[in-house]
Amino acid sequence: MARMSGTFFGYEALNRVSFLRNDLEFVKRTLQHRSTVFVPFVRGEALVRGQESRELCMLTLQDAWFPMKPVVDKLMPVLNSEEARAAVSGVNLTFLGLRSSDEDDVFQYGSSYSGIPYYAVDFWASDRTLVRESDLEPLLQCGRVDRKVVFELGNETASLYSHAKMYLDWLAKYNFCPGCGSVMFPVDGGTKMQCGNRDSNVHCNVRDARVNNVCFPRTDPVVIVAIATKDFKRICLARSGRTVHDTVLYSTIAGFMEPAETVEHACSREIWEETGIRCNDITLVSTQPWPYPVNLMIGCVGLVDANGVDDQIDLSHDKELMDAQWFDVEEIVEAIDRYSGSGVVKFSRSDITFPGSTAIAFHLIKFVCDRYKRSMGSL
Ligand SMILES: [Zn+2]
Repeated sequence: MARMSGTFFGYEALNRVSFLRNDLEFVKRTLQHRSTVFVPFVRGEALVRGQESRELCMLTLQDAWFPMKPVVDKLMPVLNSEEARAAVSGVNLTFLGLRSSDEDDVFQYGSSYSGIPYYAVDFWASDRTLVRESDLEPLLQCGRVDRKVVFELGNETASLYSHAKMYLDWLAKYNFCPGCGSVMFPVDGGTKMQCGNRDSNVHCNVRDARVNNVCFPRTDPVVIVAIATKDFKRICLARSGRTVHDTVLYSTIAGFMEPAETVEHACSREIWEETGIRCNDITLVSTQPWPYPVNLMIGCVGLVDANGVDDQIDLSHDKELMDAQWFDVEEIVEAIDRYSGSGVVKFSRSDITFPGSTAIAFHLIKFVCDRYKRSMGSL
């Protein structure tokens, strides 16, 4: 499989083999394999090993400090049934994928598929669930992963965290069928939810839908767009009320896509609503999964005619922004050239900052800078 390094949270280290997730034999064998890695969460948040560690906690069936085998043994008989629900089992489990490996003892399925299986496992145990809260004691001693830790992780681990977090967030929140209100239970390695309504007299437009009777995890698309003049000499950045360490953060504008809207129209709409600028020349640059909670940031650049009309800033429509300004790209090039690679980018002439390299906004701003340099013949 092609592997693209991508944006922060956007590194795809696993082969998701999505077509194997509905094969119960595959799920059972991956769950029991000695090489399988489990990324543990407790009540929706991942863990670091010990209180001071900065490393994401991972488990195998061999680890003595937290015995995963009894957990797997309790889950095996209830897979694909109502007892698999966290309210009964105490666990949400989701298959993430296979990681390619040259080691001899990796998981092998048929002649075509091999690697180290990865699962995310989220414990919602109580004293009434199959897996008991008292079983979790060693995990409860671990520190929780907060945002500061996440953004210090390497991109491969951060992306694994993001992948796990988005599935587990969905499994934890969607407990009842949106068609009939019955309980739902996870199937296909925790990547689909099935309506538990067995009463054929009670209509359910999820269970009885012609195409499928399952619910899938959601991803919320957000457009994020850098607005530049067509000669790339100026870029419009905006600030909300947010400050970072007493400095003012200017960034690209962003907003949720709406139903029945193209990415291009969503960008043009957000640009006009938030800044008053008229822009219909939209190009996709790159995208970024963003696990707060389940967004996909669709990064674009919008090019504007600097004709004194289309490029006029008017904040009176939506009133979401505190300020928007046209900046000389030349000055931003200088700031990015001095950037160390971590934290926010500092602007030389004032207390203004821009988002750092973990944010797609940085890459969109840098895209405009690179185009400017190219037009100046320096790249
Ligand atoms: Zn239903």
